[in-house]
Amino acid sequence: MTSGGRAIETSIFTEMTELARRTGAINLGQGIPELAGPPALLREVAAAVQAGENQYPPAYGLPALREAIAAHQLRRYGLGYAADGEVLVTTGATEALAAAVLALTGPGDEILTFDPCYDAYPAGARLSGATLTAVPLTPDPDGGRFALDATALRAAVTPRTRLLLFNSPHNPTGKVFTPDELDTIAALCRDNDLIAVTDEVYEHLVYDDGARHLPLAALPGMRERTLTISSAGKTFNVTGWKVGWACGPAHLVAAVTSVKQFLTYASGTPYQAALARALDGVEEWAAGLRGTLRAHRALLGEGLAAAGLRPYRAEAGYFLQADIRPWGYTDGMRFCRELPERAGVVAIPTVAFRAAPGGAGTPAWLARFSFCKRPEALREAAARLSAAAPAGPPRPTA
Ligand SMILES: *Cc1c(COP(=O)(O)O)cnc(C)c1O
Repeated sequence: MTSGGRAIETSIFTEMTELARRTGAINLGQGIPELAGPPALLREVAAAVQAGENQYPPAYGLPALREAIAAHQLRRYGLGYAADGEVLVTTGATEALAAAVLALTGPGDEILTFDPCYDAYPAGARLSGATLTAVPLTPDPDGGRFALDATALRAAVTPRTRLLLFNSPHNPTGKVFTPDELDTIAALCRDNDLIAVTDEVYEHLVYDDGARHLPLAALPGMRERTLTISSAGKTFNVTGWKVGWACGPAHLVAAVTSVKQFLTYASGTPYQAALARALDGVEEWAAGLRGTLRAHRALLGEGLAAAGLRPYRAEAGYFLQADIRPWGYTDGMRFCRELPERAGVVAIPTVAFRAAPGGAGTPAWLARFSFCKRPEALREAAARLSAAAPAGPPRPTA
């Protein structure tokens, strides 16, 4: 509500958390996992602290972690990066994203992204002085997926477009971009000489067997123009540790490092030390976590559908989008403000993830529910939603 309007988004998270506390509602708003990380990883951090690994790490990150990240990209995606110079450890994906936008764009530049988007993207663009242009992801009316409109994407590029900020698997929709969509996006970057900055923090949390995560950097001609960003937070249920990383050609990594060193310089030595060892075994851990979260997604999805709130498909991540119109609402903000009193559940209006507040793009009739919660909380939320559903037969759910 202040200049630029993003203050409204902050106030929604604060307001909803406060509402949850006041009403005793189950908080399915923010995506803070209620699940524990790998026990061995937690022990390793404690051991690293006790062993005295508590001082500044190198600005680029501990060499052992950079090597583990390089090995991870090669093993999983066939992408080769030099641990020295092409891998940078950051204070969460958030710092990597902010430093990349600050290093690579400035006033007069345009950044292209999709709508809805993660809230750090508009904030980063505001910090750098660049203009954020967002192409809507269109929810298909049959309750299926959010689709890329290739024509709209091409039309959004101008001579000033410098950078594509690309998030797949996507928050808040749970969409995994398809191979065809990735081809379209890669061609757009090559044809217009764009740098791609990709946010892949949900790379290990893809649940549908049909969908597969493929980094944009792995497409032809893309490695040399792409900065690939990820993080340990979502993969290992350690969002409070804030260890992220960026991989890319040396000139992009150097540019990001030049900003990063004056944001935090470096952070998280014992966490980095422990993650260096855990990353080699991430596939086994992530397979188990996916099994858990897949079941949680089903619990929430069935609960929403039974209550007449039509969920969209989410192939990945922490969240389901629900169409609230069967409850007679068209305004997600009103729905989410009334839901705690009415049903004892907190959700976030998807308009909070609009690239431009008050802009077109993301429909107002969507609400985001998080399933990275304890199963008892999801079951209880489902029961409460059903009890609070409007009378009459629920609309058929696809
Ligand atoms: C959680 C999240 C981040 C933040 O990652 P950190 O490592 O906690 O900084 C970035 N992007 C998306 C899409 C996220 O959901």
